[in-house]
Amino acid sequence: MSLPRPDAEFQLKFLRELQRILEEGRFTASYKFALVLSLADLAVQRGSDTGDPLQLPVAAIAERFTELYWRQAAPWPGGERPEVLKQNTGRRAVVVQTVMEARKDYGDRIDRVRAHPGEWASVTRRVRETVRKMPLLKLQTVGDETREFLYPNRVEGRGRDATITLNPGIGYCFRSFHPLIRELAQGGWAQFVRRMNPELIGERTDLREFLFGASRANLQAVRGPLFELQEGSCFYCRKTLNGETAQVDHFVPWSRYPVDLGHNFVVSHAGCNRRKADHLSAEVHLERWVERNEELSYELASVCESAGVPHDHRTSRQITAWAYGQVEERAGLVWVKGQTLEPLGGGWRGLFKRRGVTSAPPKEVPS
Ligand SMILES: [Zn+2]
Repeated sequence: MSLPRPDAEFQLKFLRELQRILEEGRFTASYKFALVLSLADLAVQRGSDTGDPLQLPVAAIAERFTELYWRQAAPWPGGERPEVLKQNTGRRAVVVQTVMEARKDYGDRIDRVRAHPGEWASVTRRVRETVRKMPLLKLQTVGDETREFLYPNRVEGRGRDATITLNPGIGYCFRSFHPLIRELAQGGWAQFVRRMNPELIGERTDLREFLFGASRANLQAVRGPLFELQEGSCFYCRKTLNGETAQVDHFVPWSRYPVDLGHNFVVSHAGCNRRKADHLSAEVHLERWVERNEELSYELASVCESAGVPHDHRTSRQITAWAYGQVEERAGLVWVKGQTLEPLGGGWRGLFKRRGVTSAPPKEVPS
C-alpha cells in the first residue's frame, strides 16, 4: 500500500521550508544549493508519484554532487587568466578541491573517470564523506534552529551503504516542483558564486550558462552516429534529413530536466527541433522513442561509449516517465508537428509498462 499524495497545505509548507533554507541557511560554501539540486534530481530518478518516504543512498547524492561540481571546477574563461571560481570563503571547499584534482587527469570528460571504477570510487568516496558530515546534517539548520522537515537528520548505515530517508510526501514535492526548485537553487547558487568572485566575474551575464549549461561537446559527438542509426531520417517527421544541417534534440527538453544522458538524444530537422521547442512530444513520438531504445539498446550504448556520453537507459526512462506525468497532472499540451499541439492522452503510461528495460548489452557467448 502506498501513502496518498500530500495535500495542498503540505505542499505549500514544503515550498516555504525550501525557500527558507535557500535564502537564510547559513553556509560558507555553495554546498546547500548542490544538495537541494541533488535531492530534487534523485527524487525524479528514484521516486514515485505517491506520498511514500524515499530512501536515498548518500553515495548517489555524492555522485550527483560530483557531476554538478565537475562542470564548475573548470577554469572560468572570463577573467584575465583562466581560474577556478571560488565556491566558499577560506580554504578551497573539499568537494571542489577533490574534483579539481581529478580534472587534472581527465579534463572535461567525466565519463573518462567513470570508466575507471577505482578512480571514480576514490573521487566519490571523498565527496561522500564530506556530504555526509557537512551539508546533509546542516541543510535544515537556519539560525539556531534545526528542523527535520525534509528528512530526519540521521544517516543510517556506513560507507557505501549509508542512506538518508526523505519524509513521507517530500519525494513527491521534490518531483512535483522540480522546475521551480531548479530555478531557485541555480539562481541562488549563481548569485553566491558571483558574490564570492566579484573581480573575476564582474557584470558578465554568461555565468549561469557556464555553471549549469548543456554540454555542447556531447551533442556534437553523437550527431553523426545517431544520424546513421536513424537511417538519415528526422526522428519526428520521418522525412529525409540533411547530414549537414541535422540537429541533436533533447527528447525531454533540457529546460524540463537538464541531463545529458545518451538515450535522451534524437536527431531531427532544425525546423522540427525549433517548433517542438520546450514541449514534450506527442504520444506517437514517445512510442517511437521507447521502441528505439529497446530495439537499439546495444547500438545506442556503444554509440554513447565511443562518443564519451553518459548513458543509463533505466534512468532515462524514469526521467521521461516523470516528465510526462508532470504534463498529465497539469493537463498540459504536447507537440505533434509544425504548430500543432494536442492534449496528452492517457495512453502514454502503457508504453512504459509493455516491456522491461533492456539496458544491458547481450551477453557474449564464449566460443
Ligand atoms: Zn522533421
